[in-house]
Amino acid sequence: MKVSAKYTTGQTAEIEAVEINLSESHIILPNGDIWPYFDLILVSRDTSTGWLIYRNKEISGARLTLMFSGGMADPARDYLGRVSKKLTGDSKWHFVRWQIMTGLVIIALLVLFFALYGYANRAVVAVIPDKWAVKAGDLVLDELYRQYATESCHSPGGDKALLKLIGGLRTGGLPYDLRVQVVDSGEVNALTAPGGRIVILNGLLKEAESPAELAGVLAHEAGHVKYKHPMQGVVNVLGLSVLGSMFGGDAATIAVVVFSMSYSRDMERQADKYALRTMAKSDISAKGLLAFFERLQGKDKGTIGHELKKIMSTHPLTGERMAYIQDHIAAQEKNLTQEPILTEQEWKSLKAICRTQTESAESS
Ligand SMILES: [Zn+2]
Repeated sequence: MKVSAKYTTGQTAEIEAVEINLSESHIILPNGDIWPYFDLILVSRDTSTGWLIYRNKEISGARLTLMFSGGMADPARDYLGRVSKKLTGDSKWHFVRWQIMTGLVIIALLVLFFALYGYANRAVVAVIPDKWAVKAGDLVLDELYRQYATESCHSPGGDKALLKLIGGLRTGGLPYDLRVQVVDSGEVNALTAPGGRIVILNGLLKEAESPAELAGVLAHEAGHVKYKHPMQGVVNVLGLSVLGSMFGGDAATIAVVVFSMSYSRDMERQADKYALRTMAKSDISAKGLLAFFERLQGKDKGTIGHELKKIMSTHPLTGERMAYIQDHIAAQEKNLTQEPILTEQEWKSLKAICRTQTESAESS
């Protein structure tokens, strides 16, 4: 490959305009001199013109300036960079840098897109009237009962105890009234639908060892209610078509999203914070909540069937969450008197709320 160059031997002041030839291993000067690439030392490079100035280790004072007409992008310059193993000084960086820049621009655009998308979704949730959210929540519950072929569990003592437990939780600032129901399913899970509808599956109730544990779960779910997370989750997936589903009575579509929803880390953090505030106000220790989740997580490691994993997967208990709750307990709970939330008898009644009439008749 031919390249225009300036050449000086260093013996005189004369600078000669020459045309040199690039080969795979060396430069050939017009006078027949050969400069092997391994003898070249790059003296300077000009990134605006692409010009390169070399000296030769073996020829004191000699200088060769390669004047690429195509600047940095000149094909001969690329060729020299390749065959001389980056003697152009810019190696592959020029290209890699360009790739990195392109990558960064794409990432920035994606971040912007998702930020705007998330912003738009939050705005949609904010303007959906509370009445509509309640309607959506009721649709989801209807669908749940249909799918489980069941109704919510009731017994006089159980209902009374559940109301007492919810009443004992000082949940402030909720956009909707809480309505908590227990459904006869072995699944260890709790589900919060839009509009303040909370469903405790009986498996979770059975697994809870104290009213404080159940209160902790409810306080956490109330945190999701407070920040309208269920509706946010639905809108994130369905977008504005949620309105069509709501008014078309298409419960199944909304229910599928609610049933399979798992909250983001930020949402879990918000719900935890709300739960801890609520429990502190209600004179209930968060130790129960922590113990409950830890116990479930321990069991999750294989000793018990996959049903147990449900609540752990919809509300993943990360190390970060546990540490946060532990810190709260250590710092905030010295002054709690921790009056019992329910009496022994009330707790028993609540735990038995899903028993059939025959069963409760037998046990009493
Ligand atoms: Zn959660």
